[in-house]
Amino acid sequence: MPVANYKTYCTMLDRARENHFAYPAINVTSLVTANAVLQGLAESRSDGIIQVSTGGGAFASGYSVKDMALGAISIAEHVHRVADRYSIYVALHTDHCQADVLDTYVNPLIEETERRRAAGKPNLFNSHMFDGSALSLKENLDIAVPLLERCHKNEIVLEVECGVVGGEEEGAGGEGASTEKLYTTPEDMLEVARRLNTVKGARYLVAATFGNVHGVYKPGHVKLKPSILKDGQEALEKAYGKDALFYLVFHGGSGSSLDEIRETLGYGVVKMNIDTDTQYAFTRPIADHMLKHYDGVLKVDGEVGNKKMYDPRVYLKLAEASMAERVKEAAEDLRSVGTTLFKA
Ligand SMILES: [Zn+2]
Repeated sequence: MPVANYKTYCTMLDRARENHFAYPAINVTSLVTANAVLQGLAESRSDGIIQVSTGGGAFASGYSVKDMALGAISIAEHVHRVADRYSIYVALHTDHCQADVLDTYVNPLIEETERRRAAGKPNLFNSHMFDGSALSLKENLDIAVPLLERCHKNEIVLEVECGVVGGEEEGAGGEGASTEKLYTTPEDMLEVARRLNTVKGARYLVAATFGNVHGVYKPGHVKLKPSILKDGQEALEKAYGKDALFYLVFHGGSGSSLDEIRETLGYGVVKMNIDTDTQYAFTRPIADHMLKHYDGVLKVDGEVGNKKMYDPRVYLKLAEASMAERVKEAAEDLRSVGTTLFKA
């Protein structure tokens, strides 16, 4: 199927919230990793989300170019071209974009979509994230409101973040975050709704924080409190009615237990970001290949090595397959298996 259009993407999100499942949103940085996600989703009969971070975009543009928007466009165009070989819908999203890189990342990407729409072509990305969590909530929303207006005009969904996700991810959250800021309060969520709902009919997603961290830690390090999400949703429903319930995004979920993941699905999480776990799944078979075929991938003791071992396709194929398997596991965890809206 082609990349989901706005209407299909909105239906995907609605169905997930209604039926208590979520879409895997997997970070990719290359054609190989994008293809792995498409394969994993297709084999799960699950729709899903492919996303590109600022660092991923810069990487994809080429090491000497380092243009984050250009790299994201390249990956998105690849996905637009190959997606209709798979019997599922995929949505394209960009991950964490802080205020200081809006003009080099999200804004040029929206401009690209505006150009495409003017030429009668489909949108490039379905959604973008603005991460104003390093700012005060007021400053965060002062930027988010006009951005949401622009997104809405172009049939783009906006993801915002309130609170700070701990841990490490290039440029995102982490260090210095106070413990309280790791937990979004119901008051924060009410304020987000009050401001963003002024943009009538616009669609947005909210990354609220409930002790989640980027990266991966040994068990016991992370104290997730999914009930934070429940409390926030209850406050929203009380203040604004059932329709005001948020569509939530789970960031920093790598290493979470299945029970914790499943609990969040009951509270309106419709998208779970996965990066660290799929990175590991990709690299694991490459490590295996290199260690097992040491004297094939290297020219040892005056020998010539083995082209069948050092051709990058040989081990990247293994990596792609392993990452696709991890995507399938994510679809199981998030109960999205078999839920595709695509009808053959
Ligand atoms: Zn994140």
